[in-house]
Amino acid sequence: MARYTGPVCRLCRVEQKKLMLKGDRCRSDKCPINKKRSAPGKDPKARPGKRSDYGVQLREKQKLKRIYGMQEKQFSLFFDRALRMSGITGENLFVLLERRLDNVVYRLRFATSRSQARQLVLHGHIQVNGRRVNIPSYLVKAEDVVEIKERSKGLVIVKEALKEFGKSGVMPWLQLDPDALKGKFLVSPRRSDITDLADIKEQMIVEYYSK
Ligand code: SF4
Repeated sequence: MARYTGPVCRLCRVEQKKLMLKGDRCRSDKCPINKKRSAPGKDPKARPGKRSDYGVQLREKQKLKRIYGMQEKQFSLFFDRALRMSGITGENLFVLLERRLDNVVYRLRFATSRSQARQLVLHGHIQVNGRRVNIPSYLVKAEDVVEIKERSKGLVIVKEALKEFGKSGVMPWLQLDPDALKGKFLVSPRRSDITDLADIKEQMIVEYYSK
């Protein structure tokens, strides 16, 4: 399936959840979800209809896939990989998603959104353990050092994005030296560590793919 190129806020309105796809705008009053805009094509006064089990599972899968900016094929490959790992499949899926290089770049506050982080990776601005890596789905592992390449350290978008570090720091499984623009992926997070996505019901996603 082709990459979605329409207005990204529409995706949040469909899910009626902030998917944080637009950087600073997501934290501002301009966010349509903050303004309680209804789902596209829905009468705001209409009562919500009851969803089938399949509908609920599908929506949960779509939410997580869109949060991490992935296409269906790649997301299902990640799920297959999570299924083959030992432990709980839904939790494994989260760990794999968090290890994606574009996600780590976003979590280290080098970008204001995962899509911006993806662009930084694709354009060769990111190094892992001293070597340039331009694959957004590259899986970072414990103790890997992720940094902005020397020649890219003056990028304005990175400096702007780093302002968020001053406000809320980084997730506990990461470490950042904001002056050196260098971070470390200390350890793979546990599901319970991913507090900003605590409301995603990964068991629904497991059930969706089990059919
Ligand atoms: Fe979603 Fe961000 Fe748009 Fe709000 S501003 S609807 S969180 S993409």
